[in-house]
Amino acid sequence: MTATTPISATLIDGKAFAADLRARIATQVRSMKDNGITPGLAVVLVGEDPASQVYVKSKGRMTREVGMNSYEHRLPAETSQDDLLALIGRLNDDPDVNGILVQLPLPPHMDEAAVINAIDPAKDVDGFHILNVGRLATGQKAMVPCTPLGCLMLLRDRLGSLSGKNALVIGRSNIVGKPMAQLLLRDSATVTVAHSRTANLPDLCRQADIVVAAVGRANFVQGDWIKPGATVIDVGINRGDDGLVGDVDFDAAARVAGAITPVPGGVGPMTIACLLANTLTATARANGLPDPQGLTP
Ligand code: NAD
Repeated sequence: MTATTPISATLIDGKAFAADLRARIATQVRSMKDNGITPGLAVVLVGEDPASQVYVKSKGRMTREVGMNSYEHRLPAETSQDDLLALIGRLNDDPDVNGILVQLPLPPHMDEAAVINAIDPAKDVDGFHILNVGRLATGQKAMVPCTPLGCLMLLRDRLGSLSGKNALVIGRSNIVGKPMAQLLLRDSATVTVAHSRTANLPDLCRQADIVVAAVGRANFVQGDWIKPGATVIDVGINRGDDGLVGDVDFDAAARVAGAITPVPGGVGPMTIACLLANTLTATARANGLPDPQGLTP
């Protein structure tokens, strides 16, 4: 493939998919409100990390846009872990709060795992609580991490059944790579998880019908690693001189792949939409209602 080869891949428009998902969520929120239930999402931000502030602001805006209540708790960076745990305890006990999200990263004096595991698992809309991790891994009803859930929705929309497909997940983080692998397994794909010590990554990639890249290195996955016709999901968000770029060399990969997500406008918008989906699911479960259609794996 050369730079003159035309781009042949279908663009997977995560922005449009996420907008449609939010509209469907808003419809379901309206019908819940007709029955006297308003879903509520509490977001806790400790410190002044600029990227986290941007995320929290857009999470609050989109929460309100779909008709849910948004509760923001901004705490100074020097807040003690005990004070944060006390706040989480109050949110756990508050019947108006259906979802709790503690924005990561936390300041270095805090034990992230201890904080996450203090959240009521039923309100853990990020799906990071150890119980939800275990439930996902054992095929039980869980709260599923938002970014991999968004990737799964895009893959199912594009491919229908994932059964028997060779899937390669590049990255083994707790928030993306590992839960992504679990979700793909659950859909009966044959899953390989690659990471920084993996040998022969390009060869593994050339066998994959599905590639999910979650590495955090700009343009890392090369076009000639992609199997012709493969579906490529680029989770990476890397800030460079030219703005945001993904983990996949988009221009080269889009000449070989069957379908590919752009960065920005691919997986990114799905993450917040899935956070709202999880909040709706948590609200339904808290009120003894069936899981909302199409929002859970
Ligand atoms: P992480 O740093 O926790 O994990 C990166 C993973 O990449 C590790 O498991 C590591 O083993 C693997 N890796 C590193 N070098 C490698 C190499 N040479 N070959 C193969 N694997 C290698 O990152 P993360 O939190 O999983 O995030 C990954 C990327 O996804 C980042 O760019 C992040 O900004 C982005 N992200 C995007 C969203 C979204 O909403 N779109 C959400 C979360 C993360």
